[in-house]
Amino acid sequence: MSTKYIFVTGGVTSSLGKGIICSSLGRLLVARGLRVTIQKLDPYINVDPGTMNPYEHGEVYVTDDGAETDLDLGHYERFLGIKTSQTNNVTTGRIYYDVITKERKGAYLGKTVQVIPHITDEIKSHVLKLGRSNDYDVVLIEVGGTVGDIESLPYIEAMRQLRYDVGRKNTLSIHLTLVPYLAAAGELKTKPTQHSVKTLSESGLSPDILVCRSEYPLDKSIRAKIAQFCNVEIEDVIASLDAETIYEVPLLMQEEGLDTRVIEKLGLPEKNADLKKWIEFVDKVKRPSKRVSIALVGKYVEHHDAYKSIVEALIHGGAMNDAGVQIKWVQSDYLTDSNVAVQLKDVTGILVAPGFGGRGIEGKLAAVKYARTSNIPFFGICLGMQCAVIEYARNCAGMEGANSTEFDENNSFPVIDLMPDQRDVENKGGTMRLGKYECDLVEGTKAQKAYDAERIDERHRHRFEVNNELRQKLIDSGLTVSGINPERNLVEIIEIESHPWFVGVQFHPELRSTVYDPHPLFTEFVKASLQTVGKSVGADIEEIV
Ligand code: GLN
Repeated sequence: MSTKYIFVTGGVTSSLGKGIICSSLGRLLVARGLRVTIQKLDPYINVDPGTMNPYEHGEVYVTDDGAETDLDLGHYERFLGIKTSQTNNVTTGRIYYDVITKERKGAYLGKTVQVIPHITDEIKSHVLKLGRSNDYDVVLIEVGGTVGDIESLPYIEAMRQLRYDVGRKNTLSIHLTLVPYLAAAGELKTKPTQHSVKTLSESGLSPDILVCRSEYPLDKSIRAKIAQFCNVEIEDVIASLDAETIYEVPLLMQEEGLDTRVIEKLGLPEKNADLKKWIEFVDKVKRPSKRVSIALVGKYVEHHDAYKSIVEALIHGGAMNDAGVQIKWVQSDYLTDSNVAVQLKDVTGILVAPGFGGRGIEGKLAAVKYARTSNIPFFGICLGMQCAVIEYARNCAGMEGANSTEFDENNSFPVIDLMPDQRDVENKGGTMRLGKYECDLVEGTKAQKAYDAERIDERHRHRFEVNNELRQKLIDSGLTVSGINPERNLVEIIEIESHPWFVGVQFHPELRSTVYDPHPLFTEFVKASLQTVGKSVGADIEEIV
């Protein structure tokens, strides 16, 4: 069977949830036994999102091979249970970078280098790289941006050409659009969809299936109208209503027949979808028997997308414990030793988030101290772990003024410091310690018990590390080092044995948590937090001031 390519474009407005629709369709196809992957084409000129501010772009999702990618790749991995790589994310910046590099090498043999064919050829070669690997039956291609954007045009053109290159019967064009409800008219309106499909069709990529986001159900007459104006069959008008949880979307799409239409049109084998486990998971997310409240302490908390994978991993960990996790978003800029107990009084677990730069650090340290002294389960991720080490150094290991050299280059106890190989790094893009590294776990520790393994690997994205010169001093004062990178002898996990659950990790476990394989550290963190529910936790306010 030849590889099938499904192009998914978006119209009318951004933020319609193209990534979730792609992931949901992907899940439905995987459930029918097909080998599926998804590729995201991003129309911006940055080479990757690694240098972008989290307010601009949300979380940077890191793959095993160390690529800094779009957060939609996280959805692909969580929904499909696959591993993605650099190949799954292409940006305009990367395309131009590659084309210009080739041009400088003389690879175009004196030709004038143009958008068509050189840029479009480069885009196609990236898409075909996945398709030709023989690893997949279906490659879904999510085209970022909205139809009609200047930036998207080369991608749409490349998809149009691809339909001919690989044969029309091997491709499908799905367009995600909006059918808004106009309260004043009391009606759903199809005109924006008509316009969007018209624009797409003018570029030669007429849609085969329309997925229509709407706040209200689409009745038969609306579907018939859309079908007539947009040149599709009525069964190809799929309604996508708002869901209670994103994990319900595959089930809603199945009800609407999206996967059946895709299978029919592409001539894929008609196996039944096995979604039993998925349905059980959604049920647990929607109807948990208990609730737990966890503080997520960070400096980008106004922008929840900056912590996307952490939020999802907490949902997965919650489901494993039959618990709904309510997140209390806590802005670290405003936390101090004197207000932390009040600000965090209702929570039974504290997670200090990853991040860069000195803003909000003292607030994070206040949260760590509060968790440590009040026996509240604590989970520190990357910068959160570094904060735990700084706090421990200052308050338990007699290292007054300890800090990371990221925030104070000349501090008296640089417990967190740059590795020598990071000292001379000048280029900011793609130069951190990125991707998968191994970690040996120490027998009997909380981390080792959670993973139930001796050696694991996890994904990284940071420049700074626990300073090995001060490691022994921390250990002598009672800090446990429970995970070590064997290759370079770097501290990967720390814990406090006498505390109910206090774990900090230098890596990003949230990037590995999926619906079918929730991350054990998140599961254990939620479990520990549940154990504090109903108990009187939290120190006396006076005690910690
Ligand atoms: N700023 C820290 C470092 O570079 C932590 C990074 C992170 O939290 N991802 O080491």
